[in-house]
Amino acid sequence: MIPRRASLDPMNDPIGYHPDLIYTEQGWESGKVLVCHEEGRCEEILPASEYPGKIIRLPGRAILPGLVNAHSHAFQRVIRGRTEFRSSHSTDSFWTWRETMYSAARRLSPEDIYDASRMAFLEMALTGITTVGEFHYLHYSSEGERYAESNLLAKLVVQAAWEVGIRITLLRVAYLRSGFGLPPNPDQLRFIEPAASSYLGQTVDLQSDLAKYGNRAKVGLAAHSVRAVPLDQLKRIAEYSTIANLPLHMHVAEQPAEIDACIAEYGAPPVKLLADHGILSKLFTGVHGVHLRPGEIDRLAISGARICACPTTERNLGDGIIPADALLDMGVPLSLGTDSQVQIDLLEDARSLEYQLRLQKLQRNVLVPRKNGMDALAQRLFACATIGGGESLGMGGGKFFPGYPADFFTVDLEDPSIAGANLDDLLPNIVFAGSRAAVKDVCVSGKLIVQDGSHQLHKEIVERFVKLQRKLWN
Ligand SMILES: [Zn+2]
Repeated sequence: MIPRRASLDPMNDPIGYHPDLIYTEQGWESGKVLVCHEEGRCEEILPASEYPGKIIRLPGRAILPGLVNAHSHAFQRVIRGRTEFRSSHSTDSFWTWRETMYSAARRLSPEDIYDASRMAFLEMALTGITTVGEFHYLHYSSEGERYAESNLLAKLVVQAAWEVGIRITLLRVAYLRSGFGLPPNPDQLRFIEPAASSYLGQTVDLQSDLAKYGNRAKVGLAAHSVRAVPLDQLKRIAEYSTIANLPLHMHVAEQPAEIDACIAEYGAPPVKLLADHGILSKLFTGVHGVHLRPGEIDRLAISGARICACPTTERNLGDGIIPADALLDMGVPLSLGTDSQVQIDLLEDARSLEYQLRLQKLQRNVLVPRKNGMDALAQRLFACATIGGGESLGMGGGKFFPGYPADFFTVDLEDPSIAGANLDDLLPNIVFAGSRAAVKDVCVSGKLIVQDGSHQLHKEIVERFVKLQRKLWN
């Protein structure tokens, strides 16, 4: 049975959070309070001595803007650790991993999806993630039948995020076919919808159902990939994205086989195809963008489109290395995602963006921006993990700006992974070496959902998830 519980109480009064240090775009500030409006927005940063309201002191802590995880498939948390062995195939790849993922996706009941989602979101919260973009494509029963309640599974995922306390953009995914020239795949029955029109109808229904969550849960659009959505249908979804001003996400250029199939069908690789047909825009985020052909990065930059990198997943799946240097040099904004949940640690994704290029190019400090400095590279990577994600999801956030969501996390300045850092190298310490254990408090909409490393639903969520895993895999 799925427990239905009210979420955290709203704030009644403004609160001033007073740590030792606050990270702002101007650098670290000390002796200040971050004032959170009672509606859950940032108000201002003031000297502590000048703030007359209620203060919550956070001694020995530094506050940073909450991390934004722009690409997640929460249910995939159930296959963590179950694909790290040689399968019966001669070479394991994304495609052999997908078989295990499909077998799990087929067997999950609505309650299981809720439990897996709560587990994934709890782990996210404990690592400083305050907003998630959930790329959700489980719509129907394992036999492809509608549930009595429309969008039941999407609503359960949103409920899971609400209970854990993190903000969510539910990117409802169009998945209309198995692939170009391929017969229907019974493993995809839960995902498949007949056409863009029915997909959009269901998505609009979901949007009105989620209105009660205010700015804690939003709907976004998504097309699974050029493989799964034919071009004419994709155009209809992109048109609606513009009309309704909703973000549109899509897996692009993750695997060479996907690009070969796109060229076989349309005579162009995915990003060029999308650009040629006016689908790229400021509302568009391509997820992965690992295998981009010459000229495609320019097309992304010209259109204002974004790329979401998922390095911990991409390295796990053997996808390849995202050309983050070329993308950033051309001004393509980057965000980060935990994707398959093989590891939930967005700062590991941030540092991997740089580290994998070092290994590829045999160089250091590849992604340093033009304005160099001790913490310039860390600032750039941290912005991908915060501002980049907030903009991609249309949720804002990622910085302490008046009116932005009052979402933040704290680190313990005496945690062994960062102890001894000074103001110049504290951010590089956090981005390149910060341990998940250093994250102590997490605040969403001005309310602490994690205090001193502890979440009030931790025990219950873990117990239910352990039961689920035993049922699935024993
Ligand atoms: Zn994905």
